Amino acid sequence: MSRLVAFAAIQGGYNVVSKVEGEYQQALETFEAGTKVGFPNTAYYLPVIYSLTGIKIETLEDMQKPLDFAKKLLPPHIKGKNHLPYLGSLLDAGMATLFAFELQEALKILKNPDVYLPSAEEIDEDSGKVWMGPADDVIMRKRGVEFVDGSAPGFAAIVGAAPDAETAKALVEDYQRKNLYIFLAANQNGTTVAEQLLEADVQIGWNTRIVPFGREISSAIFALGFANRAAMAFGGIEPGDYKRILKYNKDRIFAFVNALGDVNAEWAGAAAGCVNWGFPTIADTDIPEILPTGVCTYEHVVANVPHNEMSQRSIEIRGLKVQVTEIDIPCAFGPAYEGERIRKADLHSQMGGGKTQCTELVKMADMNDIEDGKVEIVGPNIGDIKEGDTLPLGIYVQIAGREFQDDFEPILERQIHHLVNYIQGVMHIGQRDISWVRVGKPAVEKGFTLKDIGVVLHAKMHQDFGKILDKVQVTLYTKQKDVDELTKRARAEYKQRDERVENMRDEDVETYYSCTLCQSFAPNHVCTVSPERTGLCGAYNWMDCKASFEINPTGPNQPIEKGECLDKDLGQWKGVNEFIYNASKGGIDHYNFYSIVFDPMTTCGCCECVAAVLPSCNGVMTVNRDYQGETPCGMTFTTLAGTIGGGASTPGFVGHSKFNITQRKFIRGDGPKDKEEGGLLRMVWMPKMLKEEIKDRVDSRAKELGIPDFLDRVADETVGTTEAEVMEFLKKKKHPALDMDPIMGS
Ligand code: SF4
Ligand code: ZN
Repeated sequence: MSRLVAFAAIQGGYNVVSKVEGEYQQALETFEAGTKVGFPNTAYYLPVIYSLTGIKIETLEDMQKPLDFAKKLLPPHIKGKNHLPYLGSLLDAGMATLFAFELQEALKILKNPDVYLPSAEEIDEDSGKVWMGPADDVIMRKRGVEFVDGSAPGFAAIVGAAPDAETAKALVEDYQRKNLYIFLAANQNGTTVAEQLLEADVQIGWNTRIVPFGREISSAIFALGFANRAAMAFGGIEPGDYKRILKYNKDRIFAFVNALGDVNAEWAGAAAGCVNWGFPTIADTDIPEILPTGVCTYEHVVANVPHNEMSQRSIEIRGLKVQVTEIDIPCAFGPAYEGERIRKADLHSQMGGGKTQCTELVKMADMNDIEDGKVEIVGPNIGDIKEGDTLPLGIYVQIAGREFQDDFEPILERQIHHLVNYIQGVMHIGQRDISWVRVGKPAVEKGFTLKDIGVVLHAKMHQDFGKILDKVQVTLYTKQKDVDELTKRARAEYKQRDERVENMRDEDVETYYSCTLCQSFAPNHVCTVSPERTGLCGAYNWMDCKASFEINPTGPNQPIEKGECLDKDLGQWKGVNEFIYNASKGGIDHYNFYSIVFDPMTTCGCCECVAAVLPSCNGVMTVNRDYQGETPCGMTFTTLAGTIGGGASTPGFVGHSKFNITQRKFIRGDGPKDKEEGGLLRMVWMPKMLKEEIKDRVDSRAKELGIPDFLDRVADETVGTTEAEVMEFLKKKKHPALDMDPIMGS
């Protein structure tokens, strides 16, 4: 904490308290001690004093007690160079300032009952009067409830004046868009934000949520009085229970102060006072800062914030979660459209799906490097292409948040799939670097463009993951060069993520995780993710599911106590069986993690690869989604995925991720009986592109299994796509599968 700001705030407290004491003495000379004082039409007396101390001020003489109280709160003056007061004395000085402000306002109303507009919802433009003073209880009940039901997350108290009317307007409108109330008080050299807004033709009053309280800094007390009355009225807190009143505000009311212009000692006192509520002050001038010490959610006083960053910074510092309620796109949106297909006849254009590259990547960013809600299209958009065209596409989502960790990246990235599917007339298939977006003609007729993908991702990520993120920025690349660059970067990221479970063993953990994210497509489908069996979509591994459960304990990734092991070679556990029986609504009562032949795990259709038994080759083949050609089992990837997807267990076929092929337990139950691991040695055919993609990993696994040149013995489409052609090759290469027990058992 800076000595200077403490000095200013404590000085401010002294100034205000002694000034009010003087005004009080004067009033006692003018009015009878028993004269009624208070704010109009309220049952809460002077609400800040009443709520925090329980003192009811009804007459002039009642003011003596709180005034003495404020004097007692004032800490000793700071003397000497090295004295650093505790935050506590600063808070006390601030509280003294605020009590004095409330008394000062009551005296002002006593002396001039017409100083503020009679409490009404709307400002009477003709009267020329601007200042509304304290809200009466009717307004407080009507408006305060919005702070409770969530329709207003809180308020921005702006004191002073902006450099010009346009700046004032831009700032206030930013807050309006975020559904905040804007409370205005104090002037800066005679200028006020309220008057600047009127000059810029902005409507002010309770009905537009812009409330001009008063021209002096003391009128800022009406904001706190409003908040504390709401805590008593809606939070059921008893007057005098100051701890709960302040905590209620800190936890429930997202409020902060923007100080525009020079901060004098009185303002500093008020800012220190607001820290008691957990309301930080964000200033545009170079005042000394008070950084975290634990009362406000984050920093207490932050200086030198440029006007164009003020709203964003304030919201971030207060820890306010932005509610994006509207998703501003021309198409209908929602889970109802998730399962919808775009048929050939309706197709306008597409990205990915083997026609072009389509890649998605979510990366954590520095809070200052991205702009929340920014969506940028780099390259041609839907409007620039014709029906039947294709585009390469890179969906790059940057996320920043105080609570965000890079462990969360894969979880957010996986959302892209269903969120894009929520758009009516747009279809999304796959994930990572094998995504596929199909855009229908009706969507384009309604005005859909790629920008809407960004709008949706921004809005929904805020809605669904607001707890862990503050900013979402989306860039959509549609130029080949950019997409290739993003893809290269993304692949390095995927590799790193995959390798996070590299050294873990299924035996080492007692808990696996379920994934039911795909139940909207395949209602009975449940993936179980263990360290050595990553999700079949390739997007979720055990670590990711664990992180996802931490973020969202009631979400689609639930811990499963694996329980008693029923079959160690095939990979079956009692706890898993019980879980999937419930989660599949009785559809499936057991499956094996490590077998393709015996009751394999189910598939929803998202799988990166589908493996199939080739009985006459005594082995298995697998095919990746991005390979479109024929395969020796007689089906293309699409046909295979269509046949086995849907949540049933289909012996002889299994969906799996690319990474899983080289995990130790991959179909180990179907591998050589003399080996603990080594199901990989049953692999007799893979598309050439897949062999190349995972070559390094296959080679190192093969070396461990004692056949370093194993990959050369695996056939691909250049050898053939019939079992006979493959068999001939296997014999020539002495493929290890030929010496194993018959794969289907006998
Ligand atoms: Fe989850 Fe499985 Fe769907 Fe991947 S495929 S998102 S692991 S349910
Ligand atoms: Zn799926």
